Amino acid sequence: MEPIQNKLMKLTQNLWWTWNPEVRAIFRDLDTDLYNRAHRNPLRVIKSIEQALLETRAADADIVIRTDRALRQLSDYLNPTTTWGLVHGGALNARPVAYFCAEFGIHECLPIYSGGLGILAGDHLKGASNLGIPLIGVGLLYHQGYTTQELDRTHWQQDVREPYELEDLPITVAKGFNGEPLSVPVELPGRTIYAKVLEVPVGRVRLILLDTRDPRNSAEDQGLAARLYGGDQRMRIQQELLLGVGGSRALRALGINASVYHLNEGHSAFAILERAMWRVQNDGLEPRNALRETAQATIFTTHTPVDAGHDRFPSALAAEHLGPIANGLKLPIEDVLGFGRVNPKDQDSPFMPTVLALKFSRRANGVAALHGVVSRRMWHCMWPDKAETEVPIGHITNGVHVPTWLAAEIDQLYRTYFGPKWADSIVRPDMWTEIEHIDPAELWEVKQVLKARLIRFVRGKVNEKATRLGIPPPETPPLDPDALTIGFARRFVPYKRPDLLFRDLDRLDRLINHPTMPINLIFAGRSHPADNPGKEIIKRVCQIIEDHRFKNRIVFVENYNMNVGRNLYQGVDAWLNNPRRPLEACGTSGMKAVMNGALHISILDGWWVEGYDGQNGFAIGNGEIHANQDIQDQRDSEALYKLLEEVVVPMYYQRNAQGIPLAWIQRMKRSIRTLSWRFNADRMLIDYARNCYLPASCSNTAQMPTP
Ligand SMILES: *Cc1c(COP(=O)(O)O)cnc(C)c1O
Repeated sequence: MEPIQNKLMKLTQNLWWTWNPEVRAIFRDLDTDLYNRAHRNPLRVIKSIEQALLETRAADADIVIRTDRALRQLSDYLNPTTTWGLVHGGALNARPVAYFCAEFGIHECLPIYSGGLGILAGDHLKGASNLGIPLIGVGLLYHQGYTTQELDRTHWQQDVREPYELEDLPITVAKGFNGEPLSVPVELPGRTIYAKVLEVPVGRVRLILLDTRDPRNSAEDQGLAARLYGGDQRMRIQQELLLGVGGSRALRALGINASVYHLNEGHSAFAILERAMWRVQNDGLEPRNALRETAQATIFTTHTPVDAGHDRFPSALAAEHLGPIANGLKLPIEDVLGFGRVNPKDQDSPFMPTVLALKFSRRANGVAALHGVVSRRMWHCMWPDKAETEVPIGHITNGVHVPTWLAAEIDQLYRTYFGPKWADSIVRPDMWTEIEHIDPAELWEVKQVLKARLIRFVRGKVNEKATRLGIPPPETPPLDPDALTIGFARRFVPYKRPDLLFRDLDRLDRLINHPTMPINLIFAGRSHPADNPGKEIIKRVCQIIEDHRFKNRIVFVENYNMNVGRNLYQGVDAWLNNPRRPLEACGTSGMKAVMNGALHISILDGWWVEGYDGQNGFAIGNGEIHANQDIQDQRDSEALYKLLEEVVVPMYYQRNAQGIPLAWIQRMKRSIRTLSWRFNADRMLIDYARNCYLPASCSNTAQMPTP
């Protein structure tokens, strides 16, 4: 019989476990402490567990049965008889989609993501896997990972680097046709660097990662991709060349002839130039034809309505880096620089990868309907002859990968009421109408269990922090398990207004310390290591929380990552989102909270403009935009206080004889019923497949010769 250790090892080899709570629970139950210390990384658990303990646990029939079942499920999953992709995927089944992104958030143990963009990309891979859409992710391996956020005694964010070991992850070196380890060259000023090609299985799809630690590179170049978004402009353009140029070459080296290139945000835009260059060099195409053809197979998704959020490389820096590409394309460097300028002739204007991608893609999209409108306005300058509404940027609204974010207890409830295979029908509104049959008391009880768990988690984090800082833990543990609990977690940047609720502290005091209708507030969020204004907001919020009026009711949880996020989304009663409209392109955290039974309290921005129907959550204000920022903030905060005081809080505390808030639960059901089928990754992937991937795959006829 196969030793249990081998079987467990097999389970760790595909990141499929990241969205299967039952599989994760096997590793947790082997040694819970170790599991948490190991960042909930199963492979690390298996490698570090005491042999004697493993043997004892292996003698436990329950662990063996669960492991065997999980292996069977994994095998069934990897060998499906049918999938959406097999039925509807057409040409993609012969030639897949290549999906480029600078970050991928699949699980907290693989720290190659920083925030929303990466997590969306991770959810995109998982959604493609579930639907069986042939797709390959392409990204960079940041071997120093991201940082852990720790606040010091003055509440200033410290960015602590926590190295991780590749050996603890199911990452393997990709092999070429003769079994040789693959690497690809990328030309940079004065030298060629090499990137090792690594791969990691994510269910039925693969993620290709480039690693600059090739011994042929100088020490400095080996560190080129050490950190996500680290370094200066020079490092950024070099990382982007690595991703776009190196990524396209890696696919080719692997023999993958993608029919569609989906560039998720502008960081990978150089892939366009590399592919066109390859056609010029290998097939003798005219440069303009090669570019036109490349564009036909390119899909571009833009994510930011904030102008400063788009990379701008000074002309000289771009010229220094794009020389080899211009040569390869047989075009003057000035022409190539012009591809990245709104007005190609304007030599003073910097090179923008977003502009390059907009010019050379067959379809470009924003990530929510309102973001589409804003993007058309923002880029109207590129199509001055067209009306703003005719600017060729559409939208596909983001969605989240439900199994990754759903609490096991809610999954259980859905299984009972929707059937064991409910996740296969996630995009069907009729399935979700079954939610109306759930007994309100049962739904309420599950939510209480999840909330209690969240509060335990938060108190644990508070104590951990106190220990680290050498200060006594709070005398009374913060947060009241029976109080309305509202969560707010996101990047701390001014436009998201993490401090909107703190504009009138007396009013906040009256609100959250109400004698019969109290509120808990849980905040989390981080700023980019170089973003001092963001860190100032964190500091200010934490200083306010220290006040005796607030410290038992408001907590700031450190180190917002996928694990902290999961706990928050699953446990809160309501989720707060108060960006300055229209600057939140989409926002996805609210979707994750909603499917776990939280009500969304949000400005009408991003996805909420499409999602809100008047009764499935709450809207702050009516979607007004004021030219004066102070006035906008003032009015929005007024609207937020009023909404909480007059609507949200009374509804939560209006109970029947059994202590159940029927009106609240009614809204909760409506929220789950009307939102879950739309704002999930399956729906997003089907939209991309139908509107982008399939049309592109049909028209792209470029064939790659078999090597
Ligand atoms: C979902 C998620 C985000 C993105 O949420 P937004 O609503 O877009 O801000 C960021 N970080 C983590 C850890 C997440 O889970």
